[in-house]
Amino acid sequence: MKAFLTLVRNDFVYYIICMKYRRAEGFVEVGLKIFKYRLYPTPAQEKCLFNTLAVCRHFYNMCLEERKTAYQLAGRSVRKSDQEKMAVRYRQTFPQAKTVFSQTLQSVADDLDKAFKAFFRRVKTGENPGYPRFKGHNRFHSFTFKQFGVGAKLDGRRLKLFGIGRVGVRWHRPLEGTIKTVRLVHNAGHWHACFACEMPDKPALLTTGRAIGVDVGIASLITTSEGEKIEHPQFYRQGQKKLRVLQRAFSRKKKGSQNRRKALLRVQRQQEHVAHQRNDYLHKLSTELVQKYDAIALEDLRVNNMVRNKRLSKSILDSGWATFRQYLTYKAENAGREIVFVDPAYTSKCCSNCGTLFQDFNLSTRWVACACGLSLDRDHNAAINILNRGGWDTSVQRNVAPLPAPHGNGKRKRAVEAARL
Ligand SMILES: [Zn+2]
Repeated sequence: MKAFLTLVRNDFVYYIICMKYRRAEGFVEVGLKIFKYRLYPTPAQEKCLFNTLAVCRHFYNMCLEERKTAYQLAGRSVRKSDQEKMAVRYRQTFPQAKTVFSQTLQSVADDLDKAFKAFFRRVKTGENPGYPRFKGHNRFHSFTFKQFGVGAKLDGRRLKLFGIGRVGVRWHRPLEGTIKTVRLVHNAGHWHACFACEMPDKPALLTTGRAIGVDVGIASLITTSEGEKIEHPQFYRQGQKKLRVLQRAFSRKKKGSQNRRKALLRVQRQQEHVAHQRNDYLHKLSTELVQKYDAIALEDLRVNNMVRNKRLSKSILDSGWATFRQYLTYKAENAGREIVFVDPAYTSKCCSNCGTLFQDFNLSTRWVACACGLSLDRDHNAAINILNRGGWDTSVQRNVAPLPAPHGNGKRKRAVEAARL
């Protein structure tokens, strides 16, 4: 069975989500690739899009209300299938819902169900749970056609949608695979269509016979075991300067005014721009690594724990460590490359030549020197340690089957241990 990853990002480039399809042999998990395109609706079509969004939001809040009340009054939980059936009655009751496709309303009930599942998962794992909330007009931005070809289909170069019409699309890249669903998203004043496509299996990349250890850091984004350093792009901090000016302008505008609405749009556009720049950079970097190396070793860092350190958090979030790791993992998976997450303990503190622990070592130590004669940049030393822990030494064993995706603690630990054997 093909392994997969769950990545959800609001960028122009693709990401992969997981979905379960009922097949003859039972449930099969299929990797889907998302292709996102800008839409150009006419004013009349845009009105219909906003109407659909409003109807979906109203239905979402109604379903949430039902679940909440049922539990409070009777201690009963409402099933997703019941709420999907309610969608039919809802369409008959509210005249403005007539132009909304019935499956779109059903997928709203599905979204709410996912929100509850995520909530209970967080309760179970002891995270800060956060009950699913009622959505105001500024908190609901998308709706789905969950069965492509029914209610939504391609008509020439246009996308034909039930109750909306033939909407113009900017096809900036070719669409691949078979379209399964389409989600319409409104963000920063623009509409986008996100097509989830089932991809045919691609042949694995040719082996290069090279393995590498990668150290992610504050001083530079990554340092490799070959001594190459890649600096932080710092888009966020540069963009922050402009963002600050825009946010100040926004806060001065009178509440509820047209000017405030326009100023908010400018703030959102700037945020979107920074996000696009960063994701583009990380995509290019991760693609390059996957193409050049057969095996990549990374530290198994807990980014969430590190972000709690206030002094470092901005740099960490800015550089997008977690995103970089996600991109690298799914690309390696698709290309048949091996990726291993190693124990991060003492990777910097330890000599990569003889294994001695350095004394008087802290964050400001940038250069390490050992009695055995090793004299190296701190991050370079750490990257070599990471490569060594990957368990390949100097020669890579290329016949090893690709490791399972590091999804959850148990699996990841097993993957690391398997690599060490
Ligand atoms: Zn040494």
